[in-house]
Parts: sequence; structure tokens; C-alpha cells
Amino acid sequence: MNEHAPIQTNNLEAFWMPFTANRQFKKAPRMFVRAKDMHYTTDDGRQVLDATAGLWCVNAGHCRPKITEAIATQAGELDYAPAFQMGHPKAFELAAKLAAIAPTGLDHVFFTNSGSESVDTALKIALAYHRAKGEGSRFRLIGRERGYHGVNFGGISVGGIVGNRKMFGTLLTGVDHMRHTHDLAKNSYTRGPIEHGADLADDLLRIATLHDPSTIAAVIVEPVSGSTGVLPPPVGYLQRLREICDQHGILLIFDEVITGYGRMGTAFGADYFGVTPDIMVTAKGLTNGVIPMGAVYVRDTIYEAFMGGGENLIEFAHGYTYSGNPIAAAAGLATLETYKEEGLFERAKALEPVFADALHSLKGEPHVIDIRTIGLIGAVELEPIAGKPAARAFAAFLDAFDHNLLIRTTGDIIALSPPLIVSESQIGEIVDGLRAVIRRLA
Ligand code: PMP
Repeated sequence: MNEHAPIQTNNLEAFWMPFTANRQFKKAPRMFVRAKDMHYTTDDGRQVLDATAGLWCVNAGHCRPKITEAIATQAGELDYAPAFQMGHPKAFELAAKLAAIAPTGLDHVFFTNSGSESVDTALKIALAYHRAKGEGSRFRLIGRERGYHGVNFGGISVGGIVGNRKMFGTLLTGVDHMRHTHDLAKNSYTRGPIEHGADLADDLLRIATLHDPSTIAAVIVEPVSGSTGVLPPPVGYLQRLREICDQHGILLIFDEVITGYGRMGTAFGADYFGVTPDIMVTAKGLTNGVIPMGAVYVRDTIYEAFMGGGENLIEFAHGYTYSGNPIAAAAGLATLETYKEEGLFERAKALEPVFADALHSLKGEPHVIDIRTIGLIGAVELEPIAGKPAARAFAAFLDAFDHNLLIRTTGDIIALSPPLIVSESQIGEIVDGLRAVIRRLA
């Protein structure tokens, strides 16, 4: 390619898009050029209501002045600082503020640039921690079917989505998976945690017994699986995982990339469910999705295994050029302030039943086979078209977009996760819009 050629705005092949077959996208490109609060503006000038907070990340809504101004100011003051063996105050300030809103005991924060990096960082911390304690026999990592933990090698190894694994060979060895908890025959049309299935947590015990518990380093789960279709946990399930981990010296990792920063009406899913993990993985809402940044929280005892050795401190051989980047840190601080000043976590909590009532009103619409809500996350599951999995929901996504509503789909499931600033009338607008989409498709 001629590097001096003018940029062809209609060339949709140079940027190889993530999770997208460019040549399908090219047939009907969907382009955003601006955003404000609850809406995107498309390149053809339409206002699209954002019912998904971007990709589950823009929790405070779009282009919030406090955040954009903090970024601009920081970019003019200190644009970049080397991340290893050197620092700058805002990263320390942000880490302290994050520790202050985290569940008790999760007082130390390792910065990354994404959810995927946070996941792989958490898995590496778990493995290195056991070695630091002299328990190097703990090398196995346990994930779960239908878990989504980003796209890096660790994350797809512990993740449970066949489509994200099958192209890439053997992945990490020493990984096992628990069964997922989604069973429409036992739980359907649910609000909050589902009633049946806590016993599935005993899969962890079975796997640990099979391999010997002293070989298991950690288990990772999303408190609510998001990307595989909004799967709330059974009542008591996370508590049971916690008990098994405590009994057998296994670290419990919560992947809170979606459930963190107010999405559940609490700071984290851990608070919503009353279960504290040993390691908590976050990203997305940390900076309101505006600047790439992730944060991995660890329990004091894990941090102390590295730092508490007197003269024998252990340097964790891991980190990124942009860990704690000044502009990302400034965005994170402004985001936390916005959440706090506007009471957005409390707002999400107050809206949870309103959102649930609205979404559940879709029961009985054509091809709807389940509705699930928890916090400000919801799913409408559609009956698959025989022989064409995911076709119905994808058609819904395209039709909704054409009618100025942004929804997200995974398989035959429509997922909703509006920004926490959503108004009650906008919740109505989202659900009415979705109802119209479902009826048109029928
Ligand atoms: N974990 C979970 C639970 C997620 O939902 C996601 C993203 N949807 C990730 C990890 C990966 O985050 P990223 O795309 O920022 O790498």
C-alpha cells in the first residue's frame, strides 16, 4: 500500500476489525461519529439510543465533561511516565481510591490496559503467589463453560466459549472447566440470582478431588456471566465456591469486568452477592470506557507474599508499558468522582426493579423464551431458528440499529446494559423499541 495515499474513508478493508468479518460489515456499515449522554450520532445523522453502554463500559454515559476535561488537562501536564521502577502521583491516588471502594481486604491494585490483560494478570498473580509461598505444585486453573474472560491466551484457556478457542490449538495446559449454570428447564423468567443450581459449585470439588486439591491454583468466574448471555448465578452458588476454595487453599478470582463499577447497583458484584474473592478483575467502567485501563485487585495476604519478605522482596515479573498511564489514571479519577457526585451506583440500585418490570413485560412476545434481569443488566432469549443459530437475534440487532436503538446480541440472546444515567422514560423507550423489533421480526 502506498503510504502517501490519502485516507480512503470508504475503504473498509485496511482496519481489520475485531470480532467482525469486514466484508460482511462493508455491506451495511454502522458508523458512529459523535456521542452524548445516552445517545450516539451516526454518520447519517441519526440519534441512536445506547441500551448497552457501548460495550458494557460507558456507565456514566457519553462524553461527560468532567472526564473529557480531566483527560485534556492531564495530557497537557504529564502525558506519559515510565511505568517500571518509576511513578507519578495520580496512579497512586487512583489505586488508593479504588481500594477504598473495593470489598474489605482487597487493598492492592495492579493496573493493566484492558479486561483481557487484567484476566491474564490475575491468573499469573495466582500462579506466582503459590510459588512465592513455596506451593509451586498449585499450577492448575479452573474456569467454567460459558465463561468469557477476554481474548488473551490465559483468558481463552479458562474461558468456555468454543468459538473463541477452536482456532488456536492447545492453549494453556492444566486447565479444567466447571459446568455452566444456565438451565431454562429449571430457571426461567428470573429476577436477580436464579433459584436452582447452587449444587453445580460442587463441580469445583469434583475437579479438585480428581486432580488432588494441592494442584489447584485458582478458579475464575464472572459473578454474572455477561458476554455469553447474562447468566445470573444460582442463589448460594458463589458462597459455595468460596467455601470450597477456603477448604482447599484455592484462590477465588471474580472477573468483574462487566459487573464492576456500579452495574449491579453496588460498587462490585462481590458486594451484591456478599462474597469476597481473593482477586478481582476489572476494566471497562473503571474509566467509563473512555481510555483503555484495567485494574486487578488483590487481597492483602497475596500482596504480602511478594512484599513481606524483609530483604527478600519478590518483584512480580509482569507489567505493561502503560500500567497506570497518567492520562488513564486521570480519566479513572474523574470517572470515580462522577459516579460518586451523581450517586450512580445508588441510582442503578433504585432502577433495578424498574428495569426488571419493564423488560419482563416482553414475556409472551413472539419467540421470546426467557427473560433475565439483575442489576442494570438484562437478557431476552429468543427461540433459535432451526438450523440457523444466532440468526434471529442478529436480525434483531440489525433491525434495532435501523430503528435507532443499540442492543447487543450473543447467540440467540439479546443483552441490555444501559448507562447508569438512563431515565425511567428511556428504559420505557428501550423496551418499547425492543418490543417493536421482536414483533417486526415475527
Ligand atoms: N472479562 C469479561 C467478563 C468481559 O466481559 C470482557 C469484555 N467484554 C473481558 C474480560 C475482556 O475485556 P477487554 O475486551 O477489555 O479485553
